[in-house]
Amino acid sequence: MKTSRRKFIENSLKATALTMSSPLILTTIASPVNNIANTNVIPSLLALQFSQAPLPYDYKALEPSIDEKTMDIHYNKHHATYIKNVNEAIAAEKIAFTTEKEFFANASKLSPKAKNNGGGAWNHNFFWQVMSAASSSKAPGGKLGDAINGSFGSLEKFKEQFTQAAMTRFGSGWAWLVNDNGKLKIGSSANQDNPMMDSSDLKGTPLLGLDVWEHAYYLKYQNKRNEYVANWCNEVNWDEVTKRLV
Ligand code: MN
Repeated sequence: MKTSRRKFIENSLKATALTMSSPLILTTIASPVNNIANTNVIPSLLALQFSQAPLPYDYKALEPSIDEKTMDIHYNKHHATYIKNVNEAIAAEKIAFTTEKEFFANASKLSPKAKNNGGGAWNHNFFWQVMSAASSSKAPGGKLGDAINGSFGSLEKFKEQFTQAAMTRFGSGWAWLVNDNGKLKIGSSANQDNPMMDSSDLKGTPLLGLDVWEHAYYLKYQNKRNEYVANWCNEVNWDEVTKRLV
């Protein structure tokens, strides 16, 4: 017992010493003199890591439109798994991109695991933010209100087109409102693709996104995606959407 305890302590000390020395390693490999020898090491230390943003409200905050159990499973199982898997892929494949923007702009070069889980990680962080807590505006105002009226005629017409995009996405995917160089566009993507990916047909900065995977609504709505989409339209956090129109 005593021997194994001593060994444990020795190993712990070694691990601590290694951790403490890592800033020195970073300093050394980042020096221009060592660039050539260490090109494989730098990415693993500086590489992008996705993290799961905290849910900005309670699991039952969006009831009855989105039920507590769906929100819990969606956040803690589905989303958490995308985060874990994309970070695994970044580490295992030594993916060197350092920003989300760069990662998605090169999506066509990523492995399916990195691309699909990276999309899932980002899309859900975005999705939680653009849904409302009780206090947020229930309609877009200011420049976003003007832009929606200018592009689609009215908020009602916008909702019709957005719903159409959500309903005609066959299988799993997302409906989007994007800002494409000052022009608002509605469209959809398959799987966990998003409009920031170079591989996406719809391109632009996401302003609003709706998850139409069955895991987002099946417990409460079963096959009635139309009811889910209609109710979801009442839960949009228009203040958050407006912030993204810059
Ligand atoms: Mn989802």
